[in-house]
Amino acid sequence: MPTTNDGIMIILSSPSGAGKTTLVKLLSKLDNFEISISHTTRKPRENEVPNKDYYFVKEEEFKRLIKNEEFLEYAKVFNNLYGTTRTPVIDNLNKGKNVLFDIDWQGADQIKNKKLDYKLITFFILPPSKKVLFERLSNRDMQDKVIVEERMHQFSRDVLHWINYDYVVINDNLETCYSKISNLIKAELTNGSKDYDIEFIRSHVEKLTS
Ligand code: ADP
Ligand code: 5GP
Repeated sequence: MPTTNDGIMIILSSPSGAGKTTLVKLLSKLDNFEISISHTTRKPRENEVPNKDYYFVKEEEFKRLIKNEEFLEYAKVFNNLYGTTRTPVIDNLNKGKNVLFDIDWQGADQIKNKKLDYKLITFFILPPSKKVLFERLSNRDMQDKVIVEERMHQFSRDVLHWINYDYVVINDNLETCYSKISNLIKAELTNGSKDYDIEFIRSHVEKLTS
């Protein structure tokens, strides 16, 4: 049974390459914050650690988890399956830990629609420009130009989901972006002032999609 001592859920979504994984890792260093480790059928990147960055599983295992109704949410993203198992999340929340999710808009929608008895704050991260996004994706996925192209192609569709999030933050300077997000989380937790300019974000999205 959820209580006032429970942790809260914080979702970060973004078009691929905008920096949400980097930001989630930084936020997880805050006291009492844990990252929800997702399952995926995608192959690990060179620098990724199995069971820390993701649980890398075969499609059959992922389908077994779906059948057993173990997922709080799951979705197909870029031809791979990604999902969040329910038990570790609920256990952490019940222990008073704040849980960070690095998931796409489909997963965010599913968690929102579940209307769990835990506070939920959703953030959408935007790149400063498409040029910078391309550079970040190219640096990260150096060996695979197809992946970079595929993710750039998806950008204009993914970005449209910004409107469904509580806050949208531009990840230009990493430190500034991190401070904005952590200040907004602190403000949400303490009823402090939530400094957020939605019209500025709207015009930034217009520039990104024009
Ligand atoms: P996402 O999880 O949204 O796909 P990542 O966190 O993997 O994105 O970031 C994509 C790449 O951009 C990574 O190589 C990361 O180190 C880099 N990066 C993230 N934020 C910034 C930033 N503010 N400035 C420069 N590089 C960044
Ligand atoms: P990547 O392959 O770059 O690690 O992730 C691709 C996309 O899948 C990102 O938008 C990431 O947030 C999303 N993702 C990662 N884990 C999950 C998950 O458990 N559920 C959902 N719905 N999306 C996820």
